Amino acid sequence: MGQITIEHRQTNEEKLSAIAPYTSLFRDALKEAHRLLASDIHIEPTTDGLQIRIRVNGDLYTYKELGVEHRQSFIQEVKRLSNLSIAISTRPQDSRLSLPSWNLALRVNSTPTLYGEKIVLRLLDMTTDFDLSTTSLSDDVITDLKIAATEKNGVIIISGPTGSGKSRTLFSLLNSLEKKTKNIVSLEDPIEYIFKGISQIEIKKSLSFADGLRAILRQDPDIILVGEIRDFETADLCFKAAATGHLVISTLHANSSTKVIERLKNMGVDEYMIQSNLKFSAAQRLVKKLCSYCAFVPNKEDLSNNPAFNLSSVRTQNHQGCSHCTNGITGRLPVMEYLTKNELKDAQNLKPKRSLRQECLNKANQGLIDYKEVLAYA
Ligand SMILES: [Zn+2]
Repeated sequence: MGQITIEHRQTNEEKLSAIAPYTSLFRDALKEAHRLLASDIHIEPTTDGLQIRIRVNGDLYTYKELGVEHRQSFIQEVKRLSNLSIAISTRPQDSRLSLPSWNLALRVNSTPTLYGEKIVLRLLDMTTDFDLSTTSLSDDVITDLKIAATEKNGVIIISGPTGSGKSRTLFSLLNSLEKKTKNIVSLEDPIEYIFKGISQIEIKKSLSFADGLRAILRQDPDIILVGEIRDFETADLCFKAAATGHLVISTLHANSSTKVIERLKNMGVDEYMIQSNLKFSAAQRLVKKLCSYCAFVPNKEDLSNNPAFNLSSVRTQNHQGCSHCTNGITGRLPVMEYLTKNELKDAQNLKPKRSLRQECLNKANQGLIDYKEVLAYA
C-alpha cells in the first residue's frame, strides 16, 4: 500500500512566530500596533532605506527606520508573511490574513513605488463591538437613527471621509434591527467583518455596486446596505429601491449633512426622488478623546471670548502624555451632525437637528475632548 503523507500547512501564526530577524521585526511592529489600537501600519521604502510608521488615533508615528541594506529583504519577508506573491513586484497586490489567537485580521496592500514596494496593513480588531450603545454616539443620535431605521422604505445616508467610523455606525445600526424576520443584504468593498444574519456580498471588478444592487433586488430584500454611493447608476438604483418599498442604508463622500443632498443632485438623482425618499442624512467625524489622567484646565483667557464653554469642566490635551495614554489621547469618539425626516421636509431651509459644532461643544463641556476641537467647526 502506498503511504499517505499529510503535509502540514503552516498557519499565519506559526509563520509569524519564527525567530528569523526580519520575521521578529515585523512581529514586534504588529504587536506594538495592536497594543496601541492602531488602525494601520505603513512600511515605506525611502531614498535612504525604509520606514515603518503606525497610525494611532488618526495620526502617523514613526515606529522604526531601517538602512537601505535591509529594505528589499524586509519587504520580501512582509510579503511572504502576508501571503502576497513574492514573484510579483511590479503591480499592486491585495491579501487578507486572519490571526485568530491575536483577535486580529489584516488587510494588506502592496504597491510599487519609486524605491520599492510600499506595504500598508489595515488592522481589523476582531473584538470590535458592533453595538450602537458602545459606539459612544450621543444617546439622542442613537434614538433618531433607530427611528429612521424603523421606516419600511427610504434611504439613510451617513457621509464622512474615509476612517470617520461610518461603517461601524451603519453595521451597529443593522445589528440593532430584528434580523430573524428581515432579509438583510449588504454590498461591501471589501468585506471587513463578518455579521450573523446578514448576507454579505463583496464588490469585485466583475461585480459593481450597481450590478450587485440589481441582483439583490431580485432576491426579495427588506433592508439593503450599500457600502458607498459613488456614481449616478448606484444612487439612482438606491432611490428607486427605496421608492419600491425597501430600506436602503449607505454612505457617501460629502462634507456635511446638507451637502449630501447637493451631491446626490449633482450626481443626477431626481430632486423629487430625494425629497420623498431620503429619511436621514448625516455627517460623521471621529474626534480625539482626551486622557482623563493627564488632560489639564486651559488658560481662562483662551476661553473667555467664547461664552458657550463651561469654564469648570473644559480640558485640553497634554501632548507629553502619561502612562495611561498616547500623547494625551485615548482613542476617538464619533460625533454626528444630522437631518431627520422632519428637518428634511423643509427643503428650502435645511437646518441640521444637531451640528458638528454643537456635538463637539457638548463633548468639550464634559471634558471628553479638547475645547480646541470645537473651534475647528466655527
Ligand atoms: Zn494621559
